[in-house]
This record gives sequence, C-alpha cells and structure tokens, in this order.
Amino acid sequence: MTMLSADFIALEQALGAHNYKPLDVVLARGEGVWVWDVEGRRYLDCLSAYSAVNQGHCHPRILAAMVEQAKKLTLTSRAFRNEQLALFYEEVATLTGSHKVLPMNSGAEAVESAIKAVRKWGYEVKGVPEGQAEVIVCANNFHGRTITIVGFSTDPDARGGFGPFAPGFRVVPFGDAAAFEAAITPNTVGFLVEPIQGEAGVVIPPAGYFKRVRELCTTHNVTLILDEIQTGLGRTGKLLAEEHEGIEADVTLIGKALSGGFYPVSAVLSNSEVLGVLKPGQHGSTFGGNPLACAVARAALKVLTDEGMIENSAVQGAYFQQALAGLRSNIMREVRGRGLMIAVELHPEAGGARRYCEALQARGVLAKDTHGDTIRLAPPLVIGREEIDWAMEQIEPVLTGAV
Ligand SMILES: *Cc1c(COP(=O)(O)O)cnc(C)c1O
Repeated sequence: MTMLSADFIALEQALGAHNYKPLDVVLARGEGVWVWDVEGRRYLDCLSAYSAVNQGHCHPRILAAMVEQAKKLTLTSRAFRNEQLALFYEEVATLTGSHKVLPMNSGAEAVESAIKAVRKWGYEVKGVPEGQAEVIVCANNFHGRTITIVGFSTDPDARGGFGPFAPGFRVVPFGDAAAFEAAITPNTVGFLVEPIQGEAGVVIPPAGYFKRVRELCTTHNVTLILDEIQTGLGRTGKLLAEEHEGIEADVTLIGKALSGGFYPVSAVLSNSEVLGVLKPGQHGSTFGGNPLACAVARAALKVLTDEGMIENSAVQGAYFQQALAGLRSNIMREVRGRGLMIAVELHPEAGGARRYCEALQARGVLAKDTHGDTIRLAPPLVIGREEIDWAMEQIEPVLTGAV
C-alpha cells in the first residue's frame, strides 16, 4: 500500500513532538533548486533548509565525496587522527583567512563552543576575575536552541518555560552602536552578533554599525564573534557577510551550508589567540571533525567557489529583489535583503505571512513565514534567471491579490 502525504502527516502528528508547524508538504526528492513531494508534485525551494542547502539539493560532487568517504572511514573520534581533518583545516582556513579552526556538528554547538572559548580567553588573556565574564548579545537574536543560548534569547517562545538559565549575558538592541558601547564593562569578553538577523526577519543593521562595533571591540579588548551560520558561505553574495561591512571578526561561526545539507557540520574560526586557550581535555565532541564530515565539508566549500555560486548569489539576488520591489501590491510593505537572503515584509493588515506561504505552496513555491508578517525568500545559490522569472509568475498573483 503506497502512503500518501496525508498518511505521513497523520503519523507525524500522532507520534512526533509538535515543536514545529511545517507546511503540509511531504518531500521525497530534491535536485538543485527543485524538490518533489510524495505525489510527485514539483516545488521551487525558496528556503534552502534555512540556508543549509546553498549548493542546491543533492549536489552530485558533494554526494560523490560523501559516498566515497563513507565507504572508507566515517568516524575515528578525536582520540586518533584522520586523513581528512588536516585538509579540512587547511582549506577552510585558507578560504576564510583564519588561523585556528574548531570543528563541531550543529550550529548551536559552534555557538556554545565560541562562548566557552571567549570566556576562557577572558580569564587567561584579558585578565577578567574568575566567574565574572560577560558576553553581550542582541535583542531578537537567533543563535540556536540549547539552554545557554535560549537563556539569552528575547523571544518568549524560545525561552519561556526553559529556565533557569546561565548567567553572564547582557542584551542590547541590534544596530545601535551607542547601546553596545554603554553595555561594555571591564568584564566584557565578547560580543556575539549576527551580521544580518535572519530568523528575526532578515534585519539589516544601519550602514556603519559594524565598523563602529569593530572599533569599540578593538578599543575595549572585546572579541567580536560573528554568527555567520546563516549569512555565511555565499548566502548574501559574499563568502562571509562581514565583507559587506569591511570588517573582520575575531571569531566567526559557520555551519549549515558547510556541508551543503548532507550532514551536520559546523566550525568556530578564529585568530590563534582565542581558540589557542583550549588545551587537551578542555573541550570536545565525539563526531566533531570526523572524516565523513570533513570530506563532505571540503566538497561543499569547493563547489561553492568552483561553480561561482557566491557571485551567482549576488547577481541573482539583485535581480530577484528588483523584481519583487517592482510588484504593484498594496499588502507589501518592504522588500529587503542582501544577495539571496531576501525578505518580503507585509503590512500587518495583510493578516500574517503564513496564508501567503500556503498560497505559494499551492502554486509550487516553498517559502517560510517568519515573525508573523515576513516571507523569507532564500533559494539555493544555484538558481538562475529563468527560475526566478518562473517564481515571480507564481509570487505576483499571490501578493497582488489575484488569487
Ligand atoms: C540556524 C542557526 C543557528 C543554529 O544552528 P543549528 O544547526 O540549528 O544548531 C545559529 N545561528 C544562526 C544565525 C542560525 O541561523
């Protein structure tokens, strides 16, 4: 008996924890920018698994690297060395201009690892009194789902009911350098911030914000930790979003597209000083740096650069944003974005973005509403002009009230 979408949805509903409210589309296959549901209907993926499949679904070169490595060696633990890890270090360090690399698995683990490293750096290098280290974060941040991370979230859904939380965090408004400056104390060891707030609805800070933040961090000896887990690896039309700001972070976090969507792989990148504080036994992960992850990540980074995906993100992102901005819609409030990280914000009277995402789904475009009134459009970076034109043919009637 073949199962239909409704059967899978009923099973999920019965047995799964209901911590997501997905669109009711049950996907079975993906290739490039396209995905197919179990009934064989085709959709353009405009979410890219929150930017984890920047390279497109099931990229053949990443797939080949994964299969080849899976046949040879998958996991050694870091108790032994493996032949992929050193090459992964070399390639990621060269590409990003970093001096030290710490491999982890999920994005949240990279964030947690960075917090551990900058706290230790604060005590051992900056001279902060033991137990007093402070990290500054931004309102409306999204850095993951662990207890520490949700403890400094300002989203009541993310943190409500999960306390008590770890101390040592201060929250300041995003995009306000003066507020950041005012929050710095002699015990501040780091500023953890997204270059563009993704989950908050693609919030781009004012011009000059990060230049000023960089100066303040340097002046006050505070590590600037950029969470590029979503903005990094080509999403905004540059390898790292920091390039738009003309600055360099002290610590950079990457994840998501680091594996092209095949496997959870994340990394903390830094100068020698910050990650240099971690000594044997002080941090680790059974799966972090495993040969399968490293082989997959090496291929994922290679195709991103070899196949011109970062430039394509800049070119097609500008084209897509221009097409969206040209729509004559009285429910649209603003189109904003960088590269292929795009948001369409609707007027509150439109009645929420979710219903428009459902209408788009019915026309073969999968997009995700975020924070009520915003539709996020973030297709894989391999998208072409014809596919954007096709997407616009679906988006236009939905946003102009023709359906
Ligand atoms: C997705 C995301 C994370 C968390 O990554 P997980 O792999 O889901 O743990 C952290 N920071 C940002 C900016 C993200 O978008």
